[in-house]
Amino acid sequence: MTQVQSIRGMSDILPSDSATWQAVETILRDVSNAYGYAEIRVPIVERTDLFRRSIGEVTDVVEKEMYTFDDRNGESLTLRPEATAGIVRAGITNGMLHNQRQKLWSTGPMFRYEKPQKGRYRQFHQFDIEALGFDGPDIDAELIIITNRIWQALGIDALELELNSLGTPASRQRHREALTQYFLQHEDALDADSRDRLHRNPLRILDSKNADMAALISGAPVTTDYLDEESATHFSLLRELLDQAGIAYRVNPRLVRGLDYYSKTVFEWVTDRLGAQGTVCGGGRYDGLVSQLGGRATPAIGCAIGMERLLELYRVCGGQPAMNAPDAYFVAVGEAALLPAFALAESLRDALPSLKVEMNCDGGSFKSQMKRADRSGAAIALILGEDEVAQRTIGIKALREDLEQISVSWPDLGAAVTQYIDNTGLGKDG
Ligand code: ATP
Ligand code: MG
Repeated sequence: MTQVQSIRGMSDILPSDSATWQAVETILRDVSNAYGYAEIRVPIVERTDLFRRSIGEVTDVVEKEMYTFDDRNGESLTLRPEATAGIVRAGITNGMLHNQRQKLWSTGPMFRYEKPQKGRYRQFHQFDIEALGFDGPDIDAELIIITNRIWQALGIDALELELNSLGTPASRQRHREALTQYFLQHEDALDADSRDRLHRNPLRILDSKNADMAALISGAPVTTDYLDEESATHFSLLRELLDQAGIAYRVNPRLVRGLDYYSKTVFEWVTDRLGAQGTVCGGGRYDGLVSQLGGRATPAIGCAIGMERLLELYRVCGGQPAMNAPDAYFVAVGEAALLPAFALAESLRDALPSLKVEMNCDGGSFKSQMKRADRSGAAIALILGEDEVAQRTIGIKALREDLEQISVSWPDLGAAVTQYIDNTGLGKDG
């Protein structure tokens, strides 16, 4: 039989990596919760129409990257390529946006049919932070401050903030006209993709990844020259708040982002440490999106952190991998040890709920069980053989350092493990 294959661009997160994922996710969750944001979980599949109407027809995501299929009723569904559309849909359908404001975070897999390469996959994960119902630049600053705190908590010092304002729809419209004029004058220099977008969505040309287009794009009219007063005031207050927070940024008037729904503030956290895929986090304001999806007009802003790129940057910046190792490995040798071993392990878990105790299953000699204990990465082995069962005692042995093995009676096990672990490296660290 031929072996089954995984899908190109979709990876498994193996036990050797999952503890690091969990550690990083814990920091993302804890920081977001600490700022008063609450988790929302939305479906991975939505109606295709939701993404067409929100992300925009003339975008790479909608034109080329969506996993779209008909369900058994012939309804077109799509695996979510990003989270904001689904979160806004949930806000509307659950009536969460009527006279209420929402500070939310969400995390999970996203799907885009892209060319797989380092930092770019077909299933990838995002951590999203979204604030709905807020008008002012203070919330824009808060979002950036939260992400900055996350980088600090992870020991990542290689990210730089790029900031821009696209302006209100009115100023965007004036910029759009200027852009169309400019690119019309240089129509011969446009690649096929850009020519196609010239009249449908000229802003998208600025987001082109074609290096041959770079010179032309660098001469194009910039958004910041077309800001109306409202947008300009918003942008300058945001910058003041960031200055006060000590967060450095570079205003990049060519930053437009790949989705259509942004207005006013857009930003990206970028690094030169990951090669070509250097954007770890991108976000911006989407004041028009809720009404565009049929809800009451609601200003909002959000950002998405790419988890695979964040984890890689964490590693590159010297972040230590976390291990899935137990604290104690329970060695039970011989038939007589089996029942008391299970009872003792359970009572130990009752007494010390945060202690990770792995039971040796499927028997084995003392030697082979000790080998497994060692390989498990546990700090200590708990040893129960026939002699111990006869004497109603149990051995405790340090596996990582030179400490004398001790023997304690069964009722004393919990207290003894606590004390013994205090004397090991494990106790000193945590
Ligand atoms: P890029 O310009 O790199 O394609 P994007 O503008 O399409 O990014 P967003 O839709 O803003 O990205 O998604 C937010 C973040 O999610 C990105 O900054 C990146 O870290 C991550 N991301 C996006 N697409 C992928 C992918 N295919 N594989 C891995 N991470 C991704
Ligand atoms: Mg993209």
